[in-house]
Amino acid sequence: MKAPVKSSGLSSRVASTAPSRAAAPSESKSGDLFALLAEHTHEQVSFYYDDACGYRGIIAIHDTRLGPALGGTRFWNYHDDREALVDALRLARGMTYKAAVAGLNLGGGKSVILGDNRITRREAIFRAHGRHVESLGGRYITAEDVGTSTADMEFIRAETEHVTGLLGKSGDPSPVTAYGVYRGIKACAKVRYGSDDLSGKVVAVQGCGHVGYSLIKLLHEDGARLIVTDIDAQRVKSVVEDFAATAVATDAIYAQQANIFAPCALGAVINDDTLSQLEVDIVAGAANNQLAEDRHGQELESQGILYAPDYVINGGGLINVNAELHGWSLERARNKAGEIYDSILRVFDIAREERIPSYLAADRLAEERIAMVAKVRQNFV
Ligand code: NAD
Repeated sequence: MKAPVKSSGLSSRVASTAPSRAAAPSESKSGDLFALLAEHTHEQVSFYYDDACGYRGIIAIHDTRLGPALGGTRFWNYHDDREALVDALRLARGMTYKAAVAGLNLGGGKSVILGDNRITRREAIFRAHGRHVESLGGRYITAEDVGTSTADMEFIRAETEHVTGLLGKSGDPSPVTAYGVYRGIKACAKVRYGSDDLSGKVVAVQGCGHVGYSLIKLLHEDGARLIVTDIDAQRVKSVVEDFAATAVATDAIYAQQANIFAPCALGAVINDDTLSQLEVDIVAGAANNQLAEDRHGQELESQGILYAPDYVINGGGLINVNAELHGWSLERARNKAGEIYDSILRVFDIAREERIPSYLAADRLAEERIAMVAKVRQNFV
């Protein structure tokens, strides 16, 4: 029989920490913690400490109205526990919105393990995490994220079925992600130019990695002209040779005279420095968290640049994970990612109707779907 897992919703665990006179300062910290939770409106947050192996993990479940909360496990050396909690809360919320706009029956969650992700003895830590996940009874499904690997997911799998992204399963999500981004770019072209034909259009792609390479291939097949950059010279060489792309220096990519800028490398690339350089009509790419701050989404709007919200256009990766959960074929996953075309059109419709920037319209689309499904399911059947 399995020993009980030391897991709980935040309320009981924190409240059960034995108070003492000497612990008075931590009482006020605990107060801060609940204020933090009240601000973030998550359904459940669970802390688990395993002293046998030193595992310290937090699982944040933001919203399960569409289905079980899915989100990866991040293994990171946070400065302090509060920073780890805030990261888990923020990332979990992001997953709710991403799943909702992708049309998936999944909610949003995320977990963080606190510690040095370079450790070599990983089995105990990830099995402890697996037990933490298992203790939530399927309300949370985990997967890989920063600092974790498919091998770590196998350790988690030894303790729970609620894990995806396993060895030999759905595999690299990048081709599905790239296809979704490609469809999203076509939708942007439709809105901006009245046609989604990309032949002759110039696309500046930042990052020729897993997603970038597949995206460049699709755009090339459609007759687009490509300007590319990467810090890895070998990756640049491949796309120049394979798809007749023109290479530019990494910091020159923003000022290119192109129709479309497709960030496929880093986050926060739309910022005060780059905005003044952009000469494009459209920003649409795979990278997560492209806007350094929300106000930069507003600024793109003011500059007359159409922005495809990152979490809508790069939803193919999550669709691929969902495909593994439900045993979908690659073709079905790809078709689902193709629907990103319609989601992007809908985002721009909402933006126009409500006179709001597209990054806010994406949130509205997600909230609309969650509210609609929750309403349909409210009666006992
Ligand atoms: P990757 O690591 O395979 O590729 C990223 C590429 O960017 C690398 O070739 C790297 O050398 C390059 N790069 C890094 N810094 C750069 C810089 N300053 N200038 C130019 N190039 C730089 O990663 P990926 O899987 O292709 O993902 C790309 C982006 O898309 C990431 O932001 C990722 O979070 C996001 N994303 C990926 C997926 C997916 O399915 N892989 C899904 C959703 C979102």
